[in-house]
Amino acid sequence: MLEKNNFLPVAEGEILQKCIDAYGKEAQIDIAIEEMSELIKALIKERRAIRRNDQDARYKATMNIAEEMSDVIIMITQLGLIFKNHEKVQDFIKFKLKREEDRIKEIEVSK
Ligand SMILES: [Mg+2]
Repeated sequence: MLEKNNFLPVAEGEILQKCIDAYGKEAQIDIAIEEMSELIKALIKERRAIRRNDQDARYKATMNIAEEMSDVIIMITQLGLIFKNHEKVQDFIKFKLKREEDRIKEIEVSK
């Protein structure tokens, strides 16, 4: 079950708060930056594997993307705990999803 002030279930949020308390906010922000760059790198590797038609490399890259996505979700959740902005983030998500929904409807109408 998700708590409103967390992107992950409560138990995981408690573990992540302990990480912040143990390592410090600044260190965890640095890790968040690192993890986001690792996801970028994984995505680029997958694109390169597709261009080379290298199925083995593509499989490895796909697995790596999943791992790096999990790292980013964990670190985004920690950023939410650090900046205490879960509600604002949720508001932005709702606003942006609604805006995209409206844009898609306009595209469908104009077809
Ligand atoms: Mg990583």
